[in-house]
Parts: sequence; structure tokens; C-alpha cells
Amino acid sequence: MYDIAIIGAGPAGLSASVYASRYGLKNVVFGFPGGLTSETHEIGNWLGTKLLNGQEFAKNSEEHAKSLGAQIVPTLVKTIERKDGHFNIETQKAEKFEAKTMLLAMGTAHRRLEIEGEKKFHGRGVSYCATCDGFFFRGKTVAVIGGGDAAAEGAVFLADLASQVYLIHRRDELRAEDYWGNLVKNNAKIKIIYSTNVLEITGGDKVESIRLDKPYDGSNELKVDGVFIEIGAAPNIELLKLCKVDLDEGGYVIIDTSGKTSIKGIWAAGDLTTGSDKFRQIVTAASEGAIAAHSIKQFLKGNNNNTQYLEKAA
Ligand code: NAP
Repeated sequence: MYDIAIIGAGPAGLSASVYASRYGLKNVVFGFPGGLTSETHEIGNWLGTKLLNGQEFAKNSEEHAKSLGAQIVPTLVKTIERKDGHFNIETQKAEKFEAKTMLLAMGTAHRRLEIEGEKKFHGRGVSYCATCDGFFFRGKTVAVIGGGDAAAEGAVFLADLASQVYLIHRRDELRAEDYWGNLVKNNAKIKIIYSTNVLEITGGDKVESIRLDKPYDGSNELKVDGVFIEIGAAPNIELLKLCKVDLDEGGYVIIDTSGKTSIKGIWAAGDLTTGSDKFRQIVTAASEGAIAAHSIKQFLKGNNNNTQYLEKAA
């Protein structure tokens, strides 16, 4: 029987594992180390390391957690059931685990644009990860859709590979932090197209063009070889439904300041929660993971008098 089953191996889950192990709590972590962070090509705001990439971050985090005793199971969780005061977890490979408490740290998945051609050309010019797929667009023309940090970062990364990058944003100003915004605006290979939506992705075997809702350079059709969709992310609702934890209107898990959810014995941390003022960064995810591990330790050691539950029947 594990003390904690941690679902998700991104910064929140692995940080929780590190803290749990150091508290002497037996923990198992499900998922692929790094989470969405491993797709980041440049992490420049993690205190103590000026610059590292997402893959390095994921590898370092995994090694750190394992060195302290974490068991990492690189499989997705299929079912979670509560029985006799503990949790039964089954993975998609039918592996079975039991744990006294659970920490939900599955993060989020890329949001889809839901436009014509998006599904059809996924993997044939449409991508949700510039770092993973940018290599295939050397010397080509690509469009990045979105106006946040991920879109700006993706555009900057792609500009080193592609011959031309269009950053297409639905509003008239970027949401991205100034650091990324300035890099985008000062890059001669990146052209920002403001106040424009992409309506359709078209082509034959591969992406050939996109259709815009207003003309750019005299035409609503823009010739591109690749489309990178970076319009944010949303939590995996299916697994959350299984856990029956309360969600807000956007599908994010409602937690208190110690990471407790509405169900006794289940905590949540990282991008899928309403915590940290919804400021979704590596540092806030890692911090929420640490806080949740601390709260779980208090709970398991029976030292829980000064904390309040959002408790309801499981
Ligand atoms: P985000 O901050 O939520 O930005 C999403 C962008 O996509 C927004 O500009 C939004 O437009 C646009 N968008 C959303 N739905 C759209 C639609 N249907 N059609 C067209 N455009 C749409 O998401 P993100 O950039 O993926 O970042 C997620 C989190 O990770 C954020 O907290 C971000 O700060 C963090 N992150 C940080 C870094 C870093 O280096 N610090 C790097 C990557 C990500 P509006 O602006 O109009 O809402």
C-alpha cells in the first residue's frame, strides 16, 4: 500500500514526490516525466538555473525524484476507485496499485482550435508542439496561432528553422510576457498578423494554406507549410470525473490553499487546479506539489486539526 499515488509526472507531481519521499512517505508517480514542460525549448525563469530546455528539466526532475525512492510508472491511469478507505488504481496496462491518498497532477492538454482541416492535417503539417516538430519545417513557411507565452515562444523557436513565421493572433495585442513579446517583435523572420482568426486549414496530402477571416496582404488565403496551434490548454476532464472532485466552470479542480479537493483523501496540484491565482508556471506547479505533499503528510500523521476540508462523501 502506497502512502500517496501521484497521477502526473510534470513539475507538480515530481515536486510532490520529492517532498513526499523526504517525509518518508512511500509514493508512486504515474505518467511521462516532464509533462507539457518537456515540450518547452527554453526555460529561463526557473530560479537558480539561467537557461535550460524542457527535456533537460524533465530528465533532471525524474532523476531527482527517483534518487529519493519514487517509483515512476510511465503509463496512463485508467480507473480510480475508492474502497475501504483507500484508493484502487488501475493503469491502461492493467497494472493495479493501492494508495492511502491521491494527488491529481495530470496537468492539461493542448486546446484544439476546432476548425475544418485541423484533425485531418494533424501530423501532416498541423502540430501542437513547436519544439517537437519544428525540425520538419526547416526552410519552410509556418503559421503559429495564439498570442500567449507558448505561441510567442514557439514562433521564436521556429524562426531559427523556418524561412518565414506568421504569428496569427485574434486580438490587437499579445498576451505573452514582454520578454517573449519583444523577441517576437524584434525578429525579422516573424510577421505578426493581429485581429485575425484562422477559419480553415487546407491542402492535399499535407497542409498548403490557411483561410483567414480577413484579408492579409490582399488575400484571405495564406500559403503555409505548417500550422502550430498554441492557444492554451485545458484539463483532462475524463479522469477528473472519475474522481468526482468539484471543478470550476472551466473544468479546473477547485482546491484550498493546501491543495485539498472537495473529496477527502484527494489533493490536486499544478496546471489543472484553481490554485496560485491560475498563474500556470513551472514554479507555481512545483510549489503546489510541495504544499500538497506537506498537507498529505499532516493528514497521514493525524496532525490535521488546524486544516479545514472541503470534504464531502466520496
Ligand atoms: P494562454 O496564456 O492561455 O494563451 C492562449 C492564447 O491563445 C491567448 O492569446 C488566446 O487569445 C489565444 N486563444 C485561445 N483560444 C483561442 C481560439 N479559439 N482561437 C484563437 N486564439 C485563441 O496559453 P499558453 O500560451 O499556452 O500558456 C499557458 C500557460 O503556460 C500560461 O500560464 C503561460 O504563461 C505559461 N507558459 C509560460 C511560458 C514562459 O516562458 N514563462 C512559456 C509557455 C507557457 P486571447 O489573448 O484573446 O485570450
